[in-house]
Amino acid sequence: MDFELTKEQKSIQKIAQLFGERIVEPLAAEIDREKKFSWYIFHAMQRHGMVGVSFPELYGGSGGDELSRVLVIEEMAKHCASTAVTLSVAQIAPNCILTYGTEEQKRFFVPPLLSGEDLSAFALTEPNAGSDASSLLTSAKQDGDYFILNGTKSFITGGALSRFIIVFARTGGPRKISAFIVEKGASGLSYGKPEEKLGINGSETVEVILKDCSVPKENMLGERDKGFNIAMTALDSGRIGIAAQSLGIAERVLQESVKYMRSRVQFGKPIGMQQGLSWYLSEMKARVEASRNLIYKAAWLKQKGLPFTMDAAIAKLYASETANFCAHKAVQIHGGYGFLKDFVLERFYRDAKVLEIYEGTSEINKLVIARSLLGPF
Ligand SMILES: Cc1cc2nc3c(=O)[nH]c(=O)nc-3n(C[C@H](O)[C@H](O)[C@H](O)COP(=O)(O)OP(=O)(O)OC[C@H]3O[C@@H](n4cnc5c(N)ncnc54)[C@H](O)[C@@H]3O)c2cc1C
Repeated sequence: MDFELTKEQKSIQKIAQLFGERIVEPLAAEIDREKKFSWYIFHAMQRHGMVGVSFPELYGGSGGDELSRVLVIEEMAKHCASTAVTLSVAQIAPNCILTYGTEEQKRFFVPPLLSGEDLSAFALTEPNAGSDASSLLTSAKQDGDYFILNGTKSFITGGALSRFIIVFARTGGPRKISAFIVEKGASGLSYGKPEEKLGINGSETVEVILKDCSVPKENMLGERDKGFNIAMTALDSGRIGIAAQSLGIAERVLQESVKYMRSRVQFGKPIGMQQGLSWYLSEMKARVEASRNLIYKAAWLKQKGLPFTMDAAIAKLYASETANFCAHKAVQIHGGYGFLKDFVLERFYRDAKVLEIYEGTSEINKLVIARSLLGPF
């Protein structure tokens, strides 16, 4: 067991750290306040090889490994949760296409996502199919060289901003779901208004509406009727990304709390000298370190090509709950100041909640873990 990062991993971590401090931090509060997606940051991440960090150079990636991807998302999340989730979601479509796509799809769609200017989205959820995604109703009926898609996808991150969306639609009976690459401008594709949210305000969330939307049959991703596996595989990797986002948030609020407890004086001494309060810090630190180990292990399993479904679910469950625990305690440690928008804690506290909801709620991740233990009945 080796706990030391490689030279390459340390170097990408350093680049991400500087990028986070110099490019993301100065804009993070404004992005939240204005509720605006930052193309400036996203394109800068593409140029610096961060979107493509763990993808092959042949397709515009930087050739790094899964742990490098985790390190980059973690660093972004220390400054801006919206930037971190944008990065993690931007890696889902290229991952799906490189795993399941044809060579033509890989060469045409992937490079602009990694080192070009394009953004992509992943559309599984529907108004009546959230945790139970296999009950989705969006239909895809073949008509000659096209598939005609009808249905509504909800909560789609970056949906209206993306060059294309991977849409999951029913092509047959139970579990017969296929994946389609639906390009911007396709006839019958439209978007709802951006959702107003509690947090991650710099990340766009929209409804995607497909009304007799025609998609060329060459844009089917993977085999017909086998799309549900694509969605589940994508979520396994996505959960490592969201766990890394959670870790970054937890680390940042812990760091802010240490600083504050050293400087804030009440009853004639720094509040850090109050034993009751210092125990909050100890518990935050213990949970942060446990999260880190779970996430890095899941990433290690993935990059070794070993099964990682259960470990990704454990890492996501634990780290997302850790981020919420730490954000809650950090606001408490800051007293009234933690409640003010002038302090970063208030933003991280709001941003943390969604970590327990998207890419599998905590309850669904517990189901994934239990199913991995129990096997099929
Ligand atoms: C900001 C944001 C961005 C998102 N981005 C995307 C995206 O890009 N693409 C996409 O496809 N989706 C996206 N989602 C959707 C997200 O994945 C779903 O919200 C999530 O899967 C939960 O589905 P639901 O909201 O319909 O809740 P429901 O499934 O209705 O769940 C409601 C409650 O019931 C619990 N529950 C449900 N079933 C069970 C069970 N069997 N056992 C125990 N408890 C259960 C849930 O845990 C939850 O607490 C996003 C959501 C948000 C909030």
